[in-house]
Amino acid sequence: MAQQYPDWLWQNGEMKPWAQATTHVMSHALHYGSSVFEGIRSYATPDGAAIFRLTDHLKRFYNSAKIYDMALPYTREELAAVCRDVLRKNKQTASYIRPVAWRGLGGFGISAETPIEVAVAAWPMGPYLGPEALENGITACVSSWHRFAPNTIPAGAKAGGNYLSGQLIAREARSRGFGEGIALTPNGLLSEGAGENLFLVFDGALHTTPASASILSGITRHSLITLAHENGIEVIERDLPREYLYLADEVFMCGTAAEITPIREVDGKQVGAGKAGPVTRHLQELFFGLFNGKTNDQWGWLEAV
Ligand code: PMP
Repeated sequence: MAQQYPDWLWQNGEMKPWAQATTHVMSHALHYGSSVFEGIRSYATPDGAAIFRLTDHLKRFYNSAKIYDMALPYTREELAAVCRDVLRKNKQTASYIRPVAWRGLGGFGISAETPIEVAVAAWPMGPYLGPEALENGITACVSSWHRFAPNTIPAGAKAGGNYLSGQLIAREARSRGFGEGIALTPNGLLSEGAGENLFLVFDGALHTTPASASILSGITRHSLITLAHENGIEVIERDLPREYLYLADEVFMCGTAAEITPIREVDGKQVGAGKAGPVTRHLQELFFGLFNGKTNDQWGWLEAV
């Protein structure tokens, strides 16, 4: 089936028909990877459509832009309003929202001062890796590609160029028949998935890789750490060696798109019982409970459309 696109998106201050949202082929970003972006979800909740942690996602968007000296020509409040407008204009509730900013046409040099273009699109999205993935888990492999070193490209910025690494990891995994790839840090410890953070469970406690492991500090990761603390589940941020993937009671990945996806097998070795384990299921219940009203949103994470 051909890909369906939404009718409208917002670009550089205007709501536009999808087909009219264009940029110049000599835009800096197309040649040099100079874009920053976000991935945000909205959910249908009992109180109506809500965007999950919109403010925190936009804070990260501005932080990514700051790292690359990109002055966004809109305030955070303006872009928050745009995210809501794009959902309303397309009559969407449960969607994936993609703000993106990039260096446009402004000369040819690597360090050229260019105009900064900004767009926000949104499209309907259910479970990213398929609904059965949330229950039965996916297979994963450790990638032959490592993440970039912290003194090369900042993993903490969600920048377009970083996803060259993500593409190598994800495409290699899929071409070898795995659901997702897990990358190691430059010194060989566990980092994260192509587009997801990584959690291991040992004896009921959560172990996750730290910011120093070339990861993007995920907002889902932070949400799960917060929910775990609130519910008496211990969380340890630490360096983790590769073989712990094989020895953990449970392994899962998390991210805005992936939500909480159990890993049932790594490198052909079964993880735990080979399906979502009890701690993973508990966290899924708490996390998805935010959207069906069963988990009290005491943090104000649900921002009404
Ligand atoms: N790591 C990478 C490389 C990602 O692309 C993402 C998805 N944004 C994540 C982790 C998870 O981050 P978040 O929970 O904020 O979506």
